[in-house]
Order: sequence, then C-alpha cells, then structure tokens
Amino acid sequence: SFHTPPPMATETFAFQAEINQLMSLIINAFYSNKEIFLRELISNASDALDKIRYQSLTNKDVLAAEPKLHIQLIADKAAKTLTLIDSGIGMTKADLINNLGTIARSGTKAFMEAVESGGDISMIGQFGVGFYSAYLVADQVTVTSKHNDDEAYTWESSAGGTFTVHPAPDVADLPRGTRIVLHLKEDQQEYLEERRIKELVKKHSEFIGYDIELQVEKSADKEVTDDEAEEEPKADDEPKVEEVDDKKPKKTKKVKEVTKSWEVLNKQKPLWTREPKEITKEEYAAFYKAISNDWEDHLSVKHFSVEGQLEFRSILFIPKRAPFDMFEPNRKKNNIKLYVRRVFIMDNCEELCPEWLGFIKGVVDSEDLPLNISRENLQQNKILKVIKKNIVKKALEQFEELVENKEDYAKFYEQFGKNLKLGIHEDATNRKKLCELLRYSSSTSGEELTSLKDYVTRMKPDQKSIYYITGESKKKLENSPFLEEAKRRGLEVLFMVDPVDEYVMQQVKDFEDKKFVCLTKEGVKFEETEEEKRRREEEKASFEKLCRAMKEQLGDKVEKVVITERLSTSPCILVTSEFGWSAHMEQIMKHQALRDSSMSSYMISKKTMEINPSHPIIKELRRKVDADQSDKTVKDLVFLLFDTALLTSGFHLEDSAAYAERIHRMIKLGLSIDDEEPTPAPAVPAAASAASASASSMESVD
Ligand code: ADP
Repeated sequence: SFHTPPPMATETFAFQAEINQLMSLIINAFYSNKEIFLRELISNASDALDKIRYQSLTNKDVLAAEPKLHIQLIADKAAKTLTLIDSGIGMTKADLINNLGTIARSGTKAFMEAVESGGDISMIGQFGVGFYSAYLVADQVTVTSKHNDDEAYTWESSAGGTFTVHPAPDVADLPRGTRIVLHLKEDQQEYLEERRIKELVKKHSEFIGYDIELQVEKSADKEVTDDEAEEEPKADDEPKVEEVDDKKPKKTKKVKEVTKSWEVLNKQKPLWTREPKEITKEEYAAFYKAISNDWEDHLSVKHFSVEGQLEFRSILFIPKRAPFDMFEPNRKKNNIKLYVRRVFIMDNCEELCPEWLGFIKGVVDSEDLPLNISRENLQQNKILKVIKKNIVKKALEQFEELVENKEDYAKFYEQFGKNLKLGIHEDATNRKKLCELLRYSSSTSGEELTSLKDYVTRMKPDQKSIYYITGESKKKLENSPFLEEAKRRGLEVLFMVDPVDEYVMQQVKDFEDKKFVCLTKEGVKFEETEEEKRRREEEKASFEKLCRAMKEQLGDKVEKVVITERLSTSPCILVTSEFGWSAHMEQIMKHQALRDSSMSSYMISKKTMEINPSHPIIKELRRKVDADQSDKTVKDLVFLLFDTALLTSGFHLEDSAAYAERIHRMIKLGLSIDDEEPTPAPAVPAAASAASASASSMESVD
C-alpha cells in the first residue's frame, strides 16, 4: 500500500474553502474525458522549465544541480502509479503550501461556475487551476519538489479537505524540479499503458518545447548459462530477467532481458520554422492548444515571417472565446511567447503586444534579439518596437479577413468587440481601420448588426450626421423618448450599449466626414423646412413664460428649460451638454469605485430640460402659468415631470423617497382622497390644498 506512515516533521494544512470545493467537484466528476489531466501536468512542467531557463539566461549557475531540461514519465503497473518528473524551477516549501492549496486564484470560483453552467471540465487550464485535474484520475497525489532556494519537500493529499507537507527523505534523484506521483484510481489504470500514454502526448502535448521522455521497457533475447539465469536480480534497477521456453541444449538458456530506457515522445520541430503550406489545419490546432491551454480549436490563424533589416517568424491565433478574466486588472497582459533563435525567452512580454490585443495567442521567434535579454532592457529595445508594430498590423489584417465570413466575424465581434473599442481609444494610428470593424445594432437593423460604412450608405440624401444613442441595453433604448423625432423623420439611429462606446465616442468625432451626433445631448438639430422653423420661433415665444417658471421651480437641478426639437410623444426629457458626460456615462462613472471625484463633479454636466410644446400636459401647464394659476399643484407637477424625465432619460432618481411622496399625493388626488379636509371637495381645489398642506415638508426633501 502507498499509505506510508507520515514522517516526524509532517505538518497538516486545510485546503482553502474554494479549492476544497473544486477538488470535490473534480474527484467526483462523472466525466469521460479525464485524459486531459496529463496535458495539464505536462503544461505545468513546461512552465516550470521555462522559468528556470529564463533565469539561466542571465545566471548560468541556476542550472548547476541539473543542466538537462526535460520532462520524464514513468508508469509503474505494480505500484499503480504514474510519475511525472520535470527539472524545472521547482517549488520551495512555501510555494507548495501556497500554490497547491491555501491560496485560491480568481479562476477557482470562475471555473466552478463555468462547470455548473454547463462548461466542460477540460476548460480547467484556462482558469489557472490545472494542477487539481490530477484528481480526475488519482485518489492520492504526492508532489516532491526541489527549488534552488530551499530543501526538498513533499506535499501529499488524498483530497478530503487537507494536505500534508514534510521534508522529502531521499531526493538524490531529484536535484532540481518537481516529481508528481499519481496513485491512480482502480478504474483509471489505462494511464499505465505505454500505448495510451504515447497517444495522449501525441494528441495534447506534441508541441511542448522540452523533451518528454517516457520510460519504456525493451526486451532482448540473451543467452545465459542455467546458473546465471537462476540467479535473482541483485537490485531493483538491475535488468529483470524472465525465463522463456527453450528447446536449446541444457547448458545454456535463452532468456528475455528487459532493459529500461527513455523514449522521446515529442519529436516535432517548432511549427513556426516550417512552411505554412506544409502545415495542416490539425497541426495548427494542436499547436494552438499546446501554447494556449485552450480546449477548443482557434477561430483563425496567421503564420508569417518578416525579413530584411530585421528577421522574425510568428504565428498568431485568435481564440473562439474571450478568457473569463479579460478585463481584470491582474490578468496576464498578453499571450505571445517570445523566442530568440528557437530558445524560449518569456511569456507575457508587454513590449510585444498592446494591451487591447491581449486576447491574441501565439509565438514570435526573433533572429536578432540577444539571448540574454532581460526584462529591464526590453523597454528601450528597437527590435521589439518593430516586432510589435508588425504584430498589430498582422492582427488587423486577420480581423479584416474574418469580416469576409459573416458568421465567423459575428462570433469574433461578440467576444472581442470590446477590445477593438479599447484599441480605438488607445491606438490613434489605427483608429480609422478599427472604426471600420465596429458593428452596432440600430433602430432599423433588427437582429443584425450594422457597420458604419453600411449606415452611411443608408443615410437620407440630406442627412449630414450619424445619429446614435447610448444606454444600458438595446431594449431600453428602443423605447427611449430621445428617438421619437428621429423615428418620425425616418432617420436610422445607432444603439450603443457598451460602456466602452462612451470612451470610443470621446475619441471618434466623425466617420467618412459625417459627424457623430448623440441624441441624448444638447444641441441636436434636424434639418428643418422654413415652415417648421417659423413654427418653432412662434412656440419659443409662446412658451417662454412657462420655461422661465419651470426653471425657477427646479432651481439648480437644471441649467435651463427649453422647447425641444426631438420629441413628438413624450412631454419632456433631460439632455446633457455636448461635451459633458451622457446619462449613461454618468451611471458608469457612479459605478466605478476608484473614480476621481473632483474630475466627476467637473464632468457631470448640467442637465437641460427640453419640453414638448405639442404635448397636452405641457400645454395645460402653460395655460395655468399664463393665467397666473401657478399654484402648489403646478410646483408638484413640475417636480414630477423632472423626476420622470430623469428616469426616461437614463439617469437615476436623486431622491426616490420624495418622488414616492409626490406620486402618492397624485394617487390620492386620483382617488379623490383628502386626509386634510374633512368634507369631500372637487378634485382640483382638493389637490391644491393637499399640496399646500405638505408644501413645507416637500420643500425640505427637495
Ligand atoms: P497554473 O495555471 O498557474 O499552472 P495550476 O493549478 O496548474 O495553475 O498550478 C498552480 C501553481 O503551482 C502554478 O502556478 C505553479 O506556481 C505551481 N506549480 C504547479 N506545477 C508545478 C511544477 N511542475 N513545477 C513548479 N511549479 C508548479
């Protein structure tokens, strides 16, 4: 049995709660595709080898204990264990405790949620918790690790909430790196079969950049004397000797001698060094999965080389899905692996790829960079600058190619549209190209999205601007009062429902010389006939008194009250100044915890109230004001109109209690209830007195 009594210095630790949940989920998973555990563990080993190799570029001594960088696999049928050994960076005692059990990553929870909502367990590597996939096939896992900075320690767990750590007793065979022993579950013994292991490595780990060596047993016939053959093998690692049937003379015997040796399973030369036309789709997919930990194929691939003053080769992949933590501040900034003349240098080299392209995965292999390049001198490196420029250029080409295939582009845009918008915000040089890649739904587009180019082709002959409106969702925008006049005039309006759109519109003022006009902002003017202009002037004059009275009532809440040019059915709306924040932006900024409050008070624009002169409510208010009947009811009504306009215009109520109070007074009015006056009175005078009775409290809440 593998349950050896724990040595003296064994410490026991509890798994962090989420990790514990994750392990139960994995260990109990009714899941047929368990084979992915090997890919995950080999990928971890490869990462650990990358780390020590990177250190060695500037300090050769780190390899002293073990110069060879490789991964080894040993299947032991008798012990029912599969062992993985890497000569990577290893883990200190603290690393073992932190990385394998006590510190949960954001991916722990995200992965469980993904699985609960129908996601596949093979996604595990994407969430940064691949190690625990060992428990798909093993009921006990023993990890021994030797880091240059510490003694060797052994971590061990059979799940169930705890793990132990103790000094590793004998590690002469592990000068540096990590050895993982999987005690396979009874029904998972297939992973001890040589053929099965070879098949898995070929399938999932063919493009790992270090040799993956499998311990294989070879038998050869050998003639020995009878005496020799009967001798017991002296030690375990001596060749085993088995008897075979022989019809030979008695003195000697033919025996099968079994010798152990290492067989390298991944003999591929790096994919990017080969000619694109000789590479199959399957090879690209296998390579993509190897470098990305993705469980799905890529959406598109671009394989290219640059020659001339500077030379490099690269393969760039667009995944099918955005990573779960795409916009989290602490995530890896990019996914392009940097090689120098076939030697892996580093992951996540920020100088290679702008942040907005962080979803692109791939490799770059430079002929010109020095091997011992360090993170510090990357920033000024001119070669990297040129490589980066080319990566952006090729990525844009890749997006443009995707546009050709409507279905693929829709998928791409759904996942990475936000990134394109960030690109517009950050990358002034490529802004124009990126704008052509944008897609929006509109007041006439139905389920489809439209490009700006297509919008322009549909513009009315005399239409000078591209109209848009921003808000939380298409559904909300479809019924927005801001659309009324545009709809009446048959003008198409783009719906922008992504918070990033607000930032995009701050950078992009026009497209193909057509100005962008936001319908929720001040100063919207549609083309008008002479007749319409004349009528508006008349209205302006005849509603002047009402506008002034309303502004007086509302005080600082609004900058001014004016006659609208964009409403046909609602009584009024609130608009923001052309250069200040829109209603939607104001909401976004309110939700950003770390915003600079001095900036926000500056950017929160004063609202202008626009009233609709053809609306019966507004007409009746004007009548009252003109006739000097502007009693307390009018005041109440003006505040109610303001509050409802806040809501329909996409703002939040400043004081919902005061709003509710006013509504309740109106409901009482509607029901002819009057709790102040004992005798029933006609509706309008009752309202006046009810309003006046509570006027003081109303003023205080306002
Ligand atoms: P990750 O996606 O970060 O590899 P894992 O759950 O697979 O997530 O592993 C957790 C951490 O444990 C790794 O980030 C690494 O620091 C450490 N680790 C895992 N396997 C090894 C290994 N073979 N050698 C060194 N460190 C390892």
